[in-house]
Amino acid sequence: MVLVDQEVKGVEGFNMEIEVREKNGDELVFIIRNAEVPFVNAIRRIAMMEVPKIAIDEVNVYVNDSAMFNEVLAHRLGLVPIMSDKETIEGLLDSDSTVSFTLQKSGPAIVYSGDLISSDSKIKPVYDTIPLLKLKEDENVELEAIARIGKGLDHAKWMPTTVCAYKQFPKITFNENMEVTKEIADACPRNILSFDKENKKITLGNLENCSMCKTCVRTSQSIANSVNSAINVDFIDDTFIFTIESDGSISPEEILLRSCDVLNQKTDKFITFFKGG
Ligand code: SF4
Repeated sequence: MVLVDQEVKGVEGFNMEIEVREKNGDELVFIIRNAEVPFVNAIRRIAMMEVPKIAIDEVNVYVNDSAMFNEVLAHRLGLVPIMSDKETIEGLLDSDSTVSFTLQKSGPAIVYSGDLISSDSKIKPVYDTIPLLKLKEDENVELEAIARIGKGLDHAKWMPTTVCAYKQFPKITFNENMEVTKEIADACPRNILSFDKENKKITLGNLENCSMCKTCVRTSQSIANSVNSAINVDFIDDTFIFTIESDGSISPEEILLRSCDVLNQKTDKFITFFKGG
C-alpha cells in the first residue's frame, strides 16, 4: 500500500483518497477523503487494540534493595517500549515464544532501560535512557524480565500507539448578512483567522489546525447579541485528519498497514462465512 496521494478504486461508489500531510519520526498525519466514520474508526480501534507488539509481561525479582516496590518496578518495566517491527519479531508472531531480559546493577546509580540485557540482540528497548529506579550506596537490583507478544485489547502495555485519533475536516463559512469584525478574528486561539481591514473580511489560514472550539462563533454571537453568528464552524462529513503517534516499538506507517491487514482478515471471515465456507 502506497500512502502518498493514493486513490483506492475498484468498488462502485468507493473512491477513497489518502494524502500524507506530515511524517516525522514516530508521528504520521494524513488526510482521508471520501470515507465514512465506521471505516475510519475501525482503523483507529484496530491500530490501538489489535496490532501485536512485544512488552515485558512477567518479572522475577531476586534482589531489590531500592525504595521502589517490586510491583511498581514491574509496572515500569512493562511500559518500556521494546522493538517490535515485523522483521524483528517475525519468529515470535505465530508462537508463544518469549524473550528474556536480565538486569543487575549496584548503587549508587540510576538504572536505565539500556541496562536491560536481552537474550535476543535484535529485540531490545527502543530507548536506552528511560529511568527505571534509583539505587543508593550499597543497594542492588537483580531481576529477570520476560517479554512476550500481546495486544492492546489485553493490556495497555501492548498498545503500540501513544496517540491514535482522527477528526473531521473543519469547514468555515460566513453569513453574508452579518458584518465580521477584528474581535472575531482575534478570538481564535489557533491564529487561523486574520482580519483584512481594507476589505472588512476575515481570511482563513490553515484549517487543519482548527480545533472546532467555536470561540469565534461565540464571540460573534456576543458582539451581535444574537444567536446568529457572522461565522459558522462545521465539518466535512467524509474527510478526516488522522494522526498516529507510535511509542517507537513499531513505525506509524507499519501500524497503519498492519491495521489494514487485520481489517482485511476480519472482512475475509465475513465473506467466507456468507459464501458458506
Ligand atoms: S473554531 Fe476555534 S480554532 Fe477554529 S477558527 Fe474558530 S476559534 Fe479558531
